[in-house]
Amino acid sequence: MPHSHWVLCLHGGAGVIGRDQPAARIAAYREGLAAALRAGANVLSAGGAALDAAMAAVRSMEENPLFNAGKGAVFDASGGHELDAAVMDGSTLSCGAVAGVRTIRSPIVAARAVMERTPHVLLAGTGADDWARDQGLETVPNNWFDDEFRRAQWLKAKEAARVQLDHADDGAKGTVGAVALDSSGVLAAATSTGGMTNKMSGRVGDTPLIGAGTYADNRTCAVSCTGTGEQFIRHAAAHGVHARMLWGGMSLKAACNDLVHRVLKPGDGGLIAVGQDGSYVMEYNSPGMFRGAADSRGAFMTAIWDD
Ligand code: ASP
Repeated sequence: MPHSHWVLCLHGGAGVIGRDQPAARIAAYREGLAAALRAGANVLSAGGAALDAAMAAVRSMEENPLFNAGKGAVFDASGGHELDAAVMDGSTLSCGAVAGVRTIRSPIVAARAVMERTPHVLLAGTGADDWARDQGLETVPNNWFDDEFRRAQWLKAKEAARVQLDHADDGAKGTVGAVALDSSGVLAAATSTGGMTNKMSGRVGDTPLIGAGTYADNRTCAVSCTGTGEQFIRHAAAHGVHARMLWGGMSLKAACNDLVHRVLKPGDGGLIAVGQDGSYVMEYNSPGMFRGAADSRGAFMTAIWDD
């Protein structure tokens, strides 16, 4: 279909998000979501590419310590941070990802660099960190990602010997992601995370795995997931939405509902998705999901719970 319409959706993580948090904190999250939405929407309204818009939204949240990506990433079991990110362009199926990186300031920028500058899709661990540094990407010491709120959260989880979503019980959140349809009809997805609090060192979640936490194909949709990564990997969640549409003939809404409410378990998390026809879905099975959407017709909204 001929396009001029654009759409951007983003998430800042799904989970148990307490309604009893201080109003100022809730307002800060909403402002963080709105700032990311503006960053991506500005790209699209200027005629920019879906991937650039999704990246701009994710970059904004990576730099915001309220979200579990980049600065403010959760602590792993060793008291450090290992970050995952992926991008995908639905017009070419080009994609790139990094997993378990410790010193790259922007994992999403590194993911895109893997896509554009290597013959590979996924670089992991020290090889990825070293490569990014050699490429001139900005690096930081691992403790640059520290945030005292996250440290307290980790110490609590560690004491209880729990591995948890960053937003499991105390209102802290969330992996970040964005999906976009640009005015040329191209779809793209981008996702970035610190993973799960107190995860084993070396654990990789769904975020950097193409088809699990991140997927885009112009024939159907672009998807970015958040929640218990192992569940999204096991069910190839993001690709599952695409497959239901392409081969099952489902609408975007039916495909997302099926995945989130029938395949995944209550509490696992959620996803955002935008379709080739400009429809979009932000569906979750946890008590809340930080999210937002904007489009060329003037829509601009952020939300946390079902209200
Ligand atoms: N999906 C992420 C992971 O398992 C966590 C999250 O979405 O909060 O690494």
